[in-house]
Amino acid sequence: MLGNFTYSNPTKLYFGKDSLNGLNEELPKYGKNVLLVYGSGSIKKNGIYDEVIKILKANNKEIFEDAGVMPNPTVEKLYEGWLRAKKGNVDFILAVGGGSVCDYAKAVSVSVYCEDDPWEKFFLRMEDVDNKIIPVGCVLTMAGTGSEMNGGTVITNHDSKLKIGHVFGENVFPKFSIMNPVYTFTLPKYQMTAGFFDIMSHILEQYFSGTDDNTSDYIMEGLLKSLIHSSEIAVKKPDDYEARSNIMWISTWALNTLIAKGKSTDWMVHMIGQSVGAYTDATHGMTLSAISIPYYKYIMPYGIEKFKRFAVNVWNINAEGKSDVQIANEGLACMEKWMKEIGLVMSIKELGVTEDMLDGIAKSSFILEGGYKVLNHEEIISILKESMK
Ligand code: NAP
Ligand code: FE
Repeated sequence: MLGNFTYSNPTKLYFGKDSLNGLNEELPKYGKNVLLVYGSGSIKKNGIYDEVIKILKANNKEIFEDAGVMPNPTVEKLYEGWLRAKKGNVDFILAVGGGSVCDYAKAVSVSVYCEDDPWEKFFLRMEDVDNKIIPVGCVLTMAGTGSEMNGGTVITNHDSKLKIGHVFGENVFPKFSIMNPVYTFTLPKYQMTAGFFDIMSHILEQYFSGTDDNTSDYIMEGLLKSLIHSSEIAVKKPDDYEARSNIMWISTWALNTLIAKGKSTDWMVHMIGQSVGAYTDATHGMTLSAISIPYYKYIMPYGIEKFKRFAVNVWNINAEGKSDVQIANEGLACMEKWMKEIGLVMSIKELGVTEDMLDGIAKSSFILEGGYKVLNHEEIISILKESMK
């Protein structure tokens, strides 16, 4: 049964090969001073930077650059962006990059006029934003996080070994996002497939929760099938526009809040994965892939009906004459095979985790209660140990 909810999503999307032209429609709506936020230089190599600068100049914008946003943006970088935006008296923030750049732009947007320490207020204390917010727009260059159409922002504090995501409300969502699938063609394979698994994980975190008959579950099965199909094409032919455009669109739908409406959700793979990230700075999607099979094998008996449904509806397992556990296991085996085939990391050891980190990683993992089994510290340790093999 669907629970009660309110739904709206304020982000306007421009999708397709000509979508950058959308900037000409959007930029006149905002003030003159634009903070252009980007990562460590991929947009300079593939030409996106030049295209964006040309449009910003044509719209008479004063450009303040904030480059060097790292994958898994840090609290130190957030303080830097905060100062830069303040000094430039910035009216608008344009993020050009992947989820890290979009997340960071949103974090800066809420921090500039915050009178408190933004890390403490928004991440440690998880308070809502009650100050002026600078509007953000995104030009997305990597599919995976869904950050282009949500209020999520994940910041890492290496000193305290915490990687925390704050999911803000609609007032923090990007005003618009430009989504040109061609921009994703230049991603290295490791980042591309990590993004694919981030998408898979966002869907599974919302699918493996609850036992009700819920429309979202049917939508998610469709998204998963399309993702599996298109990812197999994209790993062989990264410039296949049909596959890459489908994946970019699935990635937005996986985490633009729609499929979570009216249902419970889990998010423990992300909680453990983010903690692995806080200790290793590993690529987000790979932390999730390394945790997922041990996690789902562990919780499967507690949510057997859903795992059976996953096997039959997503992986086309023939259920005839088989026990529930057998069917569920066959589904997970298909998922594992697909993961290995597209080249995902299957062990946290490969991400730099050592035995002495396990206790700390488990302690830094926030325990949420929406999944089929509420984990305790020892259970997280045993899942981590499975992933060390
Ligand atoms: P990312 O960290 O933004 O980017 C990863 C790498 O890919 C960077 O080195 C980047 O290089 C490169 N790259 C991006 N686009 C490229 C392109 N078109 N061509 C070549 N290289 C390109 O990756 P992400 O997975 O999208 O973002 C991960 C972050 O998002 C993590 O911090 C994660 O925790 C967070 N996250 C947020 C949400 C949410 O709801 N907001 C959900 C899940 C995860 P450059 O630095 O040179 O650009
Ligand atoms: Fe994610």
